[in-house]
Amino acid sequence: MTKVQPKAEPFRIKMVEPIKMISKEERQSALERAGYNLFLLNSDEVYIDLLTDSGTGAMSDNQWAGLMLGDEAYSGSRNFHNLKNAVKDIFDYNFTIPTHQGRGAEQVLFPVIIKKPGDLFISNMHFDTTKGHVEMAGGRAINMVIEDAYDTEKFHPFKGNFDLNKLEATIKEKGAENIACVIITVTCNSSGGQPVSMENIRQTSDLAKRHGIRVFIDAARSYENAYFIKSREEGYAAKSIPEIVKEMYSYADGFTMSAKKDAIVNIGGILAIKDDEDLFNKCAARTVPMEGFITYGGLAGRDMEALARGLYEGMDYDYLDYRIGQVAYLGERLREGGVPIQFPTGGHAVFVDAKKILPHIPYYQFPAQSLANELYLDTGVRSVEIGSFLLGRDPDTGENLESPMELLRLTIPRRTYTYNHMDIIAEGLISVSKKANALKGLEFTYEPPILRHFTAKLKPVQ
Ligand SMILES: *Cc1c(COP(=O)(O)O)cnc(C)c1O
Repeated sequence: MTKVQPKAEPFRIKMVEPIKMISKEERQSALERAGYNLFLLNSDEVYIDLLTDSGTGAMSDNQWAGLMLGDEAYSGSRNFHNLKNAVKDIFDYNFTIPTHQGRGAEQVLFPVIIKKPGDLFISNMHFDTTKGHVEMAGGRAINMVIEDAYDTEKFHPFKGNFDLNKLEATIKEKGAENIACVIITVTCNSSGGQPVSMENIRQTSDLAKRHGIRVFIDAARSYENAYFIKSREEGYAAKSIPEIVKEMYSYADGFTMSAKKDAIVNIGGILAIKDDEDLFNKCAARTVPMEGFITYGGLAGRDMEALARGLYEGMDYDYLDYRIGQVAYLGERLREGGVPIQFPTGGHAVFVDAKKILPHIPYYQFPAQSLANELYLDTGVRSVEIGSFLLGRDPDTGENLESPMELLRLTIPRRTYTYNHMDIIAEGLISVSKKANALKGLEFTYEPPILRHFTAKLKPVQ
């Protein structure tokens, strides 16, 4: 028995989807065909799929019922109004633009607020598509998470926090007029789904506002963040999740949201703006050609209904307690088996420190990717690299950038897998990490110019 006890699922299972493990030989040939890039596997070739928690959760009966109430009018759909009202009620923001997913909101917003080439976006840590959209709009994305985030073994309750000294120094050095936006990523996906404290959100926002800089929230997992604030931050234990969520959003001017995470839908996103009508109008004008008319933004009416319902469901305390407890359980099993992980575990995933497991593979041969491939071969589990392979190249010099961390992410879909699955994953990874010194690094056979980790092909270095 691990120290972290399983927490019973706060739901019954009404519908199931069979999964099956193919043979080791079939996995080997699938991996070769996929160019040693797990993104290019077919779903049927995977047993337990931990590639992402994005759009892979199980909707509730209430959300499925909502699908039957889709109002598919091109303009002014009832479901749009339900969504807009939910956003007003939960976050207290006046303007809602539905988008096909989070990056849809990014592609609409960023070119509006990036005024000139080289304008900066400052985040605790940019998500990869967020950085991609900043760069495509001519901006530069820089990260400013606290140093403790890079020390995987050191306990810190809020490893997603901004380094406020660095933020202040950067604003002074670069000039506020050259900073398009401060974007707070909650939870901080790329540092391990790590939370940002309320105090840090407030101080980051105060600092930016004092210099007249706009503050946005990258909102994919803000409910999970609220759970951590409730359980770890002084003064919040007695507050409800909805109260904490409302306070978090009160410090920002708007948010881009991938609703495929906390809101537990298979597709959907939101661009919301608190009260800046001029900004809303500019974004609305871009939404029509990029996503669709402003009352559907690339979504069917039924999808907006499931999303509006998911926005409420995702805040349920019992659900969040079970969800984050399941992630913590997997993390604890791995730690007991001697696998180094980002500790404490974050909200949606266990991040395994591949640099420690594979010290013989240099960053430009992608140690975490090598580990992910071996885990797939061994156990049929698909995980994902979050390290130098994901990070890409310096836009100026073309050199491979070295990520401060080489992580393998075991991303847990919401309400989808059971504790028995967690045990299989833990046992598989413990056994693979014991033979890690025999693993080889990887090199490119094909490398796309942007967001390379989705489509690149690799081969083992001989
Ligand atoms: C998933 C995600 C995005 C992008 O959203 P998509 O729905 O995948 O387009 C942006 N930021 C963060 C933090 C994310 O986790």
